[in-house]
Amino acid sequence: MAVAVLIGALAAPLSAQMPQTSFETNGGTAYTPHLEMWDYLQDIASQTTVMYLDSYGQTFQGRDLPYMVFSKPQVSTPQEAWSLNRPILFFNANVHGGERTLRESLLILARELATEGTEPNRLLEDVVVVMAPQINPDGFEAQPRSTRGNSWGIDMNRDWVKREQASLRAYGELGNEWSPHLLVDGHNGGAFPYHITYQCTSHPGADVRLTDWCDFGIFPAIDERVEAAGYKSWFYTGGNETEWRGGGSQVRIGRNYNGLVNTIGILFESPGWQDDQTAAADAGKLAYIDVMEHSADNAAAMMELIRDARIQTIEMGMRGEGQIPVLVDNNDYEPQDRTITYEIRDPEFDGENPDPFRDVITVTNNRLMTKAVVRGYRDLPYAYILPRQAIDAVAMLQRNGITVEKLTRPVTLTVEAYEITGVDFEAQYDHAATTNLTLAAEPLTMEEDYPAGSYVVRTGQVRGRLVAHMLEPETEDNVITWNTMDAWIPFGEVLGDTEGPRGGFGGNQGPPLAPIHKLMTPLPLPLQVAR
Ligand SMILES: [Zn+2]
Repeated sequence: MAVAVLIGALAAPLSAQMPQTSFETNGGTAYTPHLEMWDYLQDIASQTTVMYLDSYGQTFQGRDLPYMVFSKPQVSTPQEAWSLNRPILFFNANVHGGERTLRESLLILARELATEGTEPNRLLEDVVVVMAPQINPDGFEAQPRSTRGNSWGIDMNRDWVKREQASLRAYGELGNEWSPHLLVDGHNGGAFPYHITYQCTSHPGADVRLTDWCDFGIFPAIDERVEAAGYKSWFYTGGNETEWRGGGSQVRIGRNYNGLVNTIGILFESPGWQDDQTAAADAGKLAYIDVMEHSADNAAAMMELIRDARIQTIEMGMRGEGQIPVLVDNNDYEPQDRTITYEIRDPEFDGENPDPFRDVITVTNNRLMTKAVVRGYRDLPYAYILPRQAIDAVAMLQRNGITVEKLTRPVTLTVEAYEITGVDFEAQYDHAATTNLTLAAEPLTMEEDYPAGSYVVRTGQVRGRLVAHMLEPETEDNVITWNTMDAWIPFGEVLGDTEGPRGGFGGNQGPPLAPIHKLMTPLPLPLQVAR
């Protein structure tokens, strides 16, 4: 008898129940606190062999940032995951501290992934899921209420290019290391009557095949699953009787950024029109599961697409061929080439709580406005050349996983350079005055001497599309915009000075030039990697 009791006691941890979140136990009216989340995740990790739990860094306030790797067999490193030859899916949420619903979806999904016999658990034979349920715990835990930004008040979903905020920078490094096939970033937004909304990369610098993979593959599949469960899903953000509009196209935003590094970048937004967030969290969870299922069902084609997009990016750079959309209008969209049907709130309804199945009208038109308008292109070079003092710009490139090299001896090169015809400043993000250049329409072709130590950034690398976006001086997220090269920019009266140095590379005098030059044709150079 005593022996039986003892065995029972020893066995207890193995037969213990999987935990629930406090969001679940309080009926979707309050969210799971940060430390309770850690207890919950550690409890699950102690009961499964398909979940690896670790921290990828710390916030400014010292909170540990969790991530989990789910797979069968269990793996813990990018090398192991890539050797499984399966789609690698990044799921993250809560980069905006007050946007909490999809974080709860992920926490519930984590338990299901770890529970034998569930559908998500079975899908782990075909995909690897890397989950970071809470990127911004400082904003989440802020008092008296959660904040959009982190503890410095910074919106980290605008920090993907700059990478200055501890939490986002650490998450970006995780992405550099894993290079996932797909990433879903979970937010709260979108519109009634939908329970979950989505959008893919909308920056035109990304390979359009990645966006098509979402728009004509994953998203219709999500619609089917979500509808079968009694929910509604549609594109982010909102519409009226004339058109349905997409969200911003800036590369500093997660889903756009990921498209530029040849990862399928998806935004989920959970519309917050219900007091009880249980249904919204459930619809979000189903959408995440559907991303897994669609990726499992189409694994070979999806991996081939990403492989091809990455190789093509490298080859375009190695040849110095292609066009870069540099002037992208953030506020202007063109429609996709198709007819759509969606629902909006019935304008006749004037009550408090509209019913998503009754108080709506259906709109049919061809105005799905998700294609950002491009107002200018430039030619893709073989390499960009930066002055050897441009260490802040180089550091930003390196934080983005971009390979930067430098000349080991002086060379003379024929390059293209842009004449600066105007400089103005704009308060945006956390800068009081970002630097915006206006350039002459046609670049100058010139012969220039470059000293040893000058930086060379070749576009023939897997992040070549991002290289071009960060080093073309007219884009909205380049290293000049973010003030890392202000020392070379002519301000005020100096702008019209044709006698001063042209900026950056010494010698020649004349109208000021943008301090990033372009080597248009492939050429072997004496280089070593800049560390
Ligand atoms: Zn958000």
